[in-house]
Amino acid sequence: MTAPEPIYLDYAASTPVDPVVAEAMDECLRARGGWGNPSSMHVFGRRAAERIEAARRQVAALIGALPEEIVFTSGATESDNMALLGIARANAHRGRHVVSSRIEHKAVLDPCRHLQKEGFTVTLLTPGRSGTIDPQALAAALRPDTVLVSLMLVNNEIGVIQDIEAITALCRDRGIPFHSDAAQAVGRIPVDVHALAIDFMSFTAHKLYGPKGIGALYVRAGAKRQLQPVTFGGGQEKGLRPGTLPTHQIVGFGVACERARTMFAEERARLVPLREALWSKLAALGGAHLNGEGEPRVPGILNVSFEGVEGESLVSGLSELAVSTGSACNSASAEPSYVLRALGRDTELAQSSLRFSFGRFTTAGELERAASAVSRELERLRALSPASEGPEGASAARPSMPRGGEIVGEAGGPGQEVWVRFRLQVRDGSVRKASFKAYGCPQTLAVAAWLAVRLEGRSRAELIPGTPEDWARELAVPAEKLGRLLKIEDALRECLRHWPGEV
Ligand SMILES: *Cc1c(COP(=O)(O)O)cnc(C)c1O
Repeated sequence: MTAPEPIYLDYAASTPVDPVVAEAMDECLRARGGWGNPSSMHVFGRRAAERIEAARRQVAALIGALPEEIVFTSGATESDNMALLGIARANAHRGRHVVSSRIEHKAVLDPCRHLQKEGFTVTLLTPGRSGTIDPQALAAALRPDTVLVSLMLVNNEIGVIQDIEAITALCRDRGIPFHSDAAQAVGRIPVDVHALAIDFMSFTAHKLYGPKGIGALYVRAGAKRQLQPVTFGGGQEKGLRPGTLPTHQIVGFGVACERARTMFAEERARLVPLREALWSKLAALGGAHLNGEGEPRVPGILNVSFEGVEGESLVSGLSELAVSTGSACNSASAEPSYVLRALGRDTELAQSSLRFSFGRFTTAGELERAASAVSRELERLRALSPASEGPEGASAARPSMPRGGEIVGEAGGPGQEVWVRFRLQVRDGSVRKASFKAYGCPQTLAVAAWLAVRLEGRSRAELIPGTPEDWARELAVPAEKLGRLLKIEDALRECLRHWPGEV
C-alpha cells in the first residue's frame, strides 16, 4: 500500500499547475508550427510570435502594464538579478548606493552582496516587529548617491504586504529607480504598476498556477535606459534578455495570468475566511504566535510560531502535511529563518514556525485536517518535553540525595537546542525502570527513546550503552548532530553521579 498524498500547503513555494494552463501548453507544443522559432520570418516563426504576443498582452493586463513593458525571463530569480545588477550598473556614474531590506528573498540579497564586491554600498533596512518597512526609515536611509531601491511587495515567509505607495512616492520625489520583487503578490492581490508608480517589478508563473521556468521583469516605459542588460546574444526582448523565447512556457504564463485576473477577487473572498478559521484553531492550541500580526497580509499565507516545540521535530511529525518551516530554501540546513529573526523573534520561536500556504485547490476540510494534525503533534511533543513536568520536575532533576530509589539525570535546559532528562528507578544495584523527557531535533528524541529502553536491567558499571558515535551509527544520525548526542550522554553521566550510595 502506498501512503496517501500529503495535503499540499506549500503554495508559497510553488502552486500546482492549473489544468487549464497545462492544457494550453500541451496544445501549443502539439499545434501546427507552434514550435517554430518566434524570431524567424517564415510562417512557423510568425505563428509562434503571435502566440507570444497574445500571452504578453495577458501578462501585462494582470498588472496594469502595457504589453511592451513586459520582458520575459526564466522566473523571478533571473528578473531580480537583472534588475539589481542592471539598474545599479546603469546608474553607477551617478552614485553607488543601493537600499533594500533584510527580509528580501535570496534572489535579491545575493545580487546585493555581489554589488558590494563591485564597489556599491548596500543599506539593508530592518522591518518592524510585524514585518513592514517604515517609510520614514527608508526616507532616512536615502542618500544623494542612492541609485536603486528594491523592496518586495509581499514577503514569501509571512505574507505581509508592504506599503509600496508610500515607498514609491519617496523614490519618485528623489528620482531614484524603484524595483519590487512581487513574486508573492501578483495573482494574489490587485497589483497595478502604474497606480503604484513601480519602475521595475519581478514576478513568476509558478507562483500563480503557471509552469516553472518562466517569469517576467516589468520595465516601465521610459525606464529602459536605467537598465543595463546582464546577458548578451540575439537581441530578443529589446536586447534586455536575449535568447529564443520558450513559446509553450509563455503561453502557459499568459493563460495563468488571464485566469488570475478573472478569478482573484473570488479567490480572495474564499481564502480569507479559510485563513482566519485556520488561525483561530491554531491560536486555541495555546503558545501560538502569528508572524506578521496586525499588518495587511495576502489571503493564502499563515505563518505561526509554536512555543515549547522544536520546528524540525514538529515538521517531521506532520508527514501527512506538505508545509515548510522557516524558509523553504533553508529548511535543509534547519537554520532559523533569517526573516523571522529580522522581525525580532528569538531563535527558538523562529525555528518552531510553520508556514501554511494555500490557494485555488485547497478545501476547508483540508485545513481542518491540517489543524488537527498540528494539534496532535504539538500535544505529543509538548508532553515529551522536560518542560511538561513543570518547575517541580526541574528542581527534582538535580537532587542532592537520591529519593526513594529514583535518580534523575539531566542535561541542556530551556531555550537550548537540546534538553534531556532521564528518570531511573534503581533497586538492588540495577535499573528497574527507565523513562525520559526530551526536547530537540528528531534525532535527539529518537536517540533518547532508543536509549531509555536499553537502560533497564543495567548496573552502574554498564549503565551507558556505548558511545555517542555508536548511537549515531545505529540510528543514522548525521555527523553535524553529534554534539546533541554528547548532551544526551551528559544526562546519563548525571545519573551515574546520583547513583544510590555514590552521594
Ligand atoms: C519564489 C520567489 C522567487 C523566486 O522565483 P523563481 O521563479 O523560482 O526564480 C523570488 N522572490 C520571491 C519573493 C519568491 O517568492
